[in-house]
Amino acid sequence: MSRSVFDSLCVPVVEPSARRALAAMERAKKHARWIELRLDYLHSPREIDKLLSCLKGLHHPRHSLIFTLRRRNAGGRFRGTIAAQLLWLGRAASLGQWLDLEIETIRMQGAYIVPYLQRIGARIIVSSHDFKKTPIHLDHLAKQLLKTGGDLIKIAAQANSPLDAARLLSIQRELARKGHRSVVLGMGACGAPTRILGPSDGAEFTYAALNRGKESASGQLTASELEKIFRIDRINSRTRIYGLLGCPLSHSLSPTLYNAAFRRLHLNAIYLAFETMDLDDFPLWTQQLKVKGLSVTLPHKAEVVRFLSGQDQAARRVGVVNTLRWRQGRWFGYNTDAHGIEKPLDELGLDLKDKEVLLLGAGGAAQGVAAVLRQKKAKVLISNRTFAAAQRLARRFGHRAVRAEKLRNSHFALIVNATSVGMWPRVNKVPIDLTEVSADVVFDLVYNPPETRLLRQARRRKMATISGMKMFVSQAEAQFKILTGRRLPTAIWKEIAETNSS
Ligand code: NAP
Repeated sequence: MSRSVFDSLCVPVVEPSARRALAAMERAKKHARWIELRLDYLHSPREIDKLLSCLKGLHHPRHSLIFTLRRRNAGGRFRGTIAAQLLWLGRAASLGQWLDLEIETIRMQGAYIVPYLQRIGARIIVSSHDFKKTPIHLDHLAKQLLKTGGDLIKIAAQANSPLDAARLLSIQRELARKGHRSVVLGMGACGAPTRILGPSDGAEFTYAALNRGKESASGQLTASELEKIFRIDRINSRTRIYGLLGCPLSHSLSPTLYNAAFRRLHLNAIYLAFETMDLDDFPLWTQQLKVKGLSVTLPHKAEVVRFLSGQDQAARRVGVVNTLRWRQGRWFGYNTDAHGIEKPLDELGLDLKDKEVLLLGAGGAAQGVAAVLRQKKAKVLISNRTFAAAQRLARRFGHRAVRAEKLRNSHFALIVNATSVGMWPRVNKVPIDLTEVSADVVFDLVYNPPETRLLRQARRRKMATISGMKMFVSQAEAQFKILTGRRLPTAIWKEIAETNSS
């Protein structure tokens, strides 16, 4: 049976003073059973002394406190010696709670230190951190940690690929199967799946920041994200795993959208972000994590095709995919971007036959636009920062490549921006100067922000506009149907807009 979110979370308190730490602890208590007090974040020994004194004699019947005073050589902030560390930890141990003790200290001080602190009254988390990589021999590391006689072991390692996350989750399951209390997690963006799936794979808890800016490690999600977006209490061995493949992914709306839709439709499914630049291990990690379907974004839309056993007509026409579905032991690719481009154009009633259209960009999304515009028999000029890419794309779809400087004083029926210029965080950039080139309609594929600077300038010049959000909505509806066989609830967009503005 799944545990409640409250029982699965550990909120770290990372404050510089005892007063602020106590206030944060009270707030954290509403969200999590486990509260980690990072003594090494307090800015002086006086503050450590103050905090421990304040906590003396207090009872926390619903909570477990963890005291951590990690030294700098183990990735913490405590500048003192091992002797000073052990003195403070001895004092914290007398409060009868948990201590997080890094393996480096045990190695330097000797194995006796664990039973010594246990005799004083603490339970011990023996922890290991690797801030650069996920160690190759995780099983060996786990054995070393178990040998210390701690009450719980923790392995935190930088995950540099989704395969690292899959390996960490596999060792987590193994430890839980053998009955060892443990927490195994991946740091960094690639580690996100371990933080979300960890508790259902047997982790004692998963770390969660109280709010943004209060993370104690990179890639840590907030308590609210784990509770409201990922609903970690609902995840079990039958949960179907979907996700987004690309890099970078931090700007993406898809995890919020899909997870909200799964909730509304009561589907036992979860949607994760798989951030990676490298596809070589794709078959391995998707199989290990039992991924059932993926949305694909830049830069993988073309390269991922090499892993597919088949593609739908739209994908073959465009030459790139944005949707992958795992069916009968094989991957199949689809392209819903083309539908997403076509629908808003049709809704506007634009007849583009023999009309002049300017396409900016020659990447994955531009391929979809080029294919749709060919079907609509438009006369298309393609302009791109890398001219050779514009030429290649133009040749493929029977359009013409043009250099940006030749565009001055031209007017088009439609300008489509399929570059990433203007996308968050560089929202002040525009891909073209609308004082030099004009159009009846400007369509910006960028959807974050929903209204780009280019669209604002176009509106000011009385040109009609289509936002990338329109395309996102249309393509997401088609993609959701392919991946889940269900219709995306229309009310979901209102909910997403509200979530994002709150
Ligand atoms: P991509 O394959 O990486 O292509 C990026 C394109 O942008 C290339 O043509 C690139 O030119 C150009 N570019 C990048 N930085 C530039 C700069 N500083 N100056 C000038 N040109 C630059 O990416 P993609 O998948 O095609 O995505 C492009 C945009 O479309 C992204 O913003 C993406 O979010 C958006 N998109 C939106 C939707 C939606 O549903 N609304 C769907 C798909 C994509 P070079 O060839 O010279 O590198």
